[in-house]
Amino acid sequence: NYYLEKINITGKLNAFVEVYASESIERAKHLDEKRISGKPCGKLHGVIIAIKDVICYKDHTVTASSGILKNFVSVYNSTVVENLLKEDAIIIGSCNCDEFAMGSTNENSVYGRVLNALDKSKVPGGSSGGSAVAVQAGLCMVSLGSDTGGSVRQPADFCGITGIKPSYGCISRNGLIAYASSFDQVGIFSNNVEDAAIVLEVINGPDEYDSTVNQQKQKEFQISHQPKKYKIALLKNALGHRSLDQEIKKNIYDLAEQLREDGNEIEEIDFDLIDFIVPAYYVLTTAEASSNLSRYDGVRYGFRHQNDAEDLAQFYKKTRSEGFGKEVKRRIMLGTFVLSEGYYDAYFTKAQQIRRLLVNQTEEIFKSFDALIMPTVPSTAFEAGSMQKDPIAIYLADIYTVYANLTGTPAISLPLFKHSNGMPFGLQVITNKHNELTLLELSDKLM
Ligand code: GLN
Repeated sequence: NYYLEKINITGKLNAFVEVYASESIERAKHLDEKRISGKPCGKLHGVIIAIKDVICYKDHTVTASSGILKNFVSVYNSTVVENLLKEDAIIIGSCNCDEFAMGSTNENSVYGRVLNALDKSKVPGGSSGGSAVAVQAGLCMVSLGSDTGGSVRQPADFCGITGIKPSYGCISRNGLIAYASSFDQVGIFSNNVEDAAIVLEVINGPDEYDSTVNQQKQKEFQISHQPKKYKIALLKNALGHRSLDQEIKKNIYDLAEQLREDGNEIEEIDFDLIDFIVPAYYVLTTAEASSNLSRYDGVRYGFRHQNDAEDLAQFYKKTRSEGFGKEVKRRIMLGTFVLSEGYYDAYFTKAQQIRRLLVNQTEEIFKSFDALIMPTVPSTAFEAGSMQKDPIAIYLADIYTVYANLTGTPAISLPLFKHSNGMPFGLQVITNKHNELTLLELSDKLM
């Protein structure tokens, strides 16, 4: 009741697409009875969780905040939802996001923009902006988003909360609506590292429905509070990048200095691939998106063009023209272009080669270091309307987040700083692939 009331009062933030009010109350009552009768309770007993509108929940609407999935009802549970329910969580509603998780401002949504609760003239970030604001404004305890190129970490940074994207393959993608399948991961928004660790423990692990998930057994994430010293790298070319706000830069260097004084080893290393990261990301993800989104043909899912199509090809065209928003169309066209004959080698193959170099360099780095630290975003939260004004500038601001998705490494944004402009910003920590425990333990120390 407390959370439902709060969601009602803050409705103008537009964080939720749908709130499962009566159903949540029923479930809470049922969970109360379970506890009172002495039956064993799950790890998330009574925990109030919101999910991004790209995560399938059986018999509930899921639309990826797109017109093309209008009124589409999921016929099965995603594996993450299945795992949350098994451990007695209460899923309170689905959250607004950029259409098909494409964006950094939550302005590309058929439901309209989400407001940053700290300053309503600012965006909450994206694409999981609704999930971020749901935690920021205290409308749930934790929430799930998805992170293909920063969509959990960047909104966490803009909203002043914690956002983690685990390694590629840590969490099943079964029932997560695909944007770019070799990048997509479910991520968690929370108020602290420990909450993220508990939820991650529940939702990670092997799954027969996702062949890309790590086949080892489900991992536990007990954070040890033993004193430990770390070897941490800073990427010179990342911190020296022209797009980085000077105050953010100074804060990161000051923190690094403090960590050194505390006995950790800090070293600045070269990383000359920095300017290739964003182009490689946008070539590969739009290519994958153009293929993934070809299934929305008006026949199989959601919205379909009703009136005057003369033949099947025209029916497809009209459905897709009317159903998809501008940004999604832009990416489908870009992706189709980079995959087309005559351009494939120049764009798609090149970008894959860059991805390979990045993976190799990253493996080298983690032979000598426990973690990397860098900013999450080069600036604090953008003004509303920025996406309309200059989409390329918004793409370029993904420079620090897309690296972890290109390399499959786990990464977290920690709300450690406040800018003199009044907005929060985060520290991003990255560890080696499949090393979530080090990420969580170091993050816990830093908070
Ligand atoms: N801003 C990035 C993009 O638009 C991130 C998206 C994401 O992580 N889903 O592609």
